[in-house]
Amino acid sequence: MGRIIRNTFSYGFVTLLLAVLGFGIYLFLDDLDGPDIVMVPDTGRISPNQNIELTLSDPKSGVRSVTVTVHRNNQSLVILDTVFNPVAPTQKASFNLKNAGLRDGAFELEITARDDSLMSFGKGNGTTRKWNMQLDTQPPKVRIKSTVPALRRGSVTAIAYTVSEDAAMTGVKLGDSFFPAFLQPNGVYYCFFPFPLDTPKGAFSPELITRDLAGNESRNRVLVNAGERAYRKDTLNISDRFLDAKEDVFKELIPDDASNLERYVRINNEVRIANERKLLEIGKQTAPTMLWSGAFKRLPRSASKASFGDQRTYMHNGVKIDEQTHMGQDLASVAHAPVPAANDGKVVFAEPLGIFGNLVIIDHGLGLQSLYSHMSEIHTSVGATVKKDDVIGLTGTTGLAGGDHLHFGILMHGIQVQPLDWFDAKWIKNTITDRLEAAGAQR
Ligand SMILES: [Zn+2]
Repeated sequence: MGRIIRNTFSYGFVTLLLAVLGFGIYLFLDDLDGPDIVMVPDTGRISPNQNIELTLSDPKSGVRSVTVTVHRNNQSLVILDTVFNPVAPTQKASFNLKNAGLRDGAFELEITARDDSLMSFGKGNGTTRKWNMQLDTQPPKVRIKSTVPALRRGSVTAIAYTVSEDAAMTGVKLGDSFFPAFLQPNGVYYCFFPFPLDTPKGAFSPELITRDLAGNESRNRVLVNAGERAYRKDTLNISDRFLDAKEDVFKELIPDDASNLERYVRINNEVRIANERKLLEIGKQTAPTMLWSGAFKRLPRSASKASFGDQRTYMHNGVKIDEQTHMGQDLASVAHAPVPAANDGKVVFAEPLGIFGNLVIIDHGLGLQSLYSHMSEIHTSVGATVKKDDVIGLTGTTGLAGGDHLHFGILMHGIQVQPLDWFDAKWIKNTITDRLEAAGAQR
């Protein structure tokens, strides 16, 4: 009996001892992995001035150190050797190869990061990653293959060009705006960009910027014969009848206490600016190829009521209350006339938006989009593929519209441009498609 009791005791003791020991080993061995290493950019190519950002993470033990070494022809050079104090789960480090004395060509990059665990006699767990890299000091060579026709303020043009190597980024920079180019299946980049209506002729100096995978940049002036275009002046009388009729719309957009007139002016300014910012955002949702062909379809049997670029003065009871530029083409047909898609594309917006009321935007690719506003009904939805002539809604008076009409717009990367050009098959052929096709055929 006694023996059995003692055995039970010792089994229990051994089990407990093993458990304690196991827990100790578990604590000691808990973190067997070294830190994660993420390098940005990570393209396999690097220029000496390119800064590389490292993110090192080890949630269990924290990151203690990082070493960056370059190997070439059996020679090694330590570029970065950092011990972090204090230790943290995530550490950032950056380096470049300015002082590495490397010449163009292949080399090996080795990065070792250690955590703060007790492994390896207190040195911590190490992670070592190696990259086969190319040092590249040469900026990409860019050849513009299309001539740029005369371009008038408010309109759009397009250029075609080739780049000598893969590009991380390429397109036209104009002031603070950047208009990306898209690589076409024929190996040529197409870049569409506007001469924005609000850019004075003297300030219009487009520059083609291309950055390769190593971070080298080339800049080329795009020589454009830029011309002025005169725009009309127009006076709009805002009647009390109009203000009363729009009260519900105004209250929804400006819920604060204000008169309808105050609300109207604020909508025409604050809401307009917010809506234009939204157009820039929508402009980024564009296909990398041209989805459209031929002239854009105009609202059938319609009369032009106002034009793109009209300098509008708003009057109320003989007093000037506001000034704005009209950024589309107002086309009036019968009330609730069916609105056809102007060209093939994909619907990227289909809901009410501020001054525009019920708004549809169709993307045609490479930054080109068409805009249909003030509609009484929307007969399409985001993501729908449409063909030229498909009915996408009915004209109406939603948003800031007075009478039933279609406010039709053309956008280039979200910037409102001259729509009339795009109704003109000859203008499209002469200034856009023929030049792009010729540039592609030369290659
Ligand atoms: Zn309009």
